[in-house]
Amino acid sequence: MNHKYYNVHTHKKPQINNEVCIRNAYLTPIERFEPNYFLSTGLHPWHVASISAKELMSRLEKNCNNKQVKAIGEIGLDKFATDYERQKSYFDMQINFAAQRHYPVILHQVKSVEGVGSVIKDFHEPIILHGFNGHVSVWEQLNRNGKTYISVGSNCLNPSAKLLQTLKDIPLKNLFLETDNAAVLVQTVYEKIAGIREIETSKLMEEMATNFKSVFKTNI
Ligand SMILES: [Zn+2]
Repeated sequence: MNHKYYNVHTHKKPQINNEVCIRNAYLTPIERFEPNYFLSTGLHPWHVASISAKELMSRLEKNCNNKQVKAIGEIGLDKFATDYERQKSYFDMQINFAAQRHYPVILHQVKSVEGVGSVIKDFHEPIILHGFNGHVSVWEQLNRNGKTYISVGSNCLNPSAKLLQTLKDIPLKNLFLETDNAAVLVQTVYEKIAGIREIETSKLMEEMATNFKSVFKTNI
């Protein structure tokens, strides 16, 4: 029996003993992180003004030489952030990089379903729509490659009617759980979502273990 709490996207190190997480490293050099958890690396759409395209690609490349890195992310498009054209160009570059190197992508998307859809239309690696809070039809629309997941975090603790319905409708094989930046333990997210699905927490843990190992090619 696998009794680990898989946390697909967090900005913190593991908060409980049996947590397996992917921590967001941004473009920070990998050696600055402890070796006992996984990382994702990428330029967040909020930070596009801070770096040149050349510097972005060289830091991405360097970080991906480290086996601790399991995904590119979080990357994406955000209508509420500045410089949307530059966001698109950097997002496109990072998607191409992930495609060439066969990395899954952790995606940040705010009011940009169409923009994101056009960039990922030929992307064949797994995509995780992190911090998902929308209707299941948004997932359906973006799931062109059949390998697209939603990841839900602290929003589930006080879900909108829309998210509550999504959590009932989404196939478990397309779900991940996360804590992102929230002051919440991953265990609390698992317990809440198991309750919404009317299944045992241990069953949810098993399902998430299967998804995690298959997407990130890990054996823990
Ligand atoms: Zn995040």
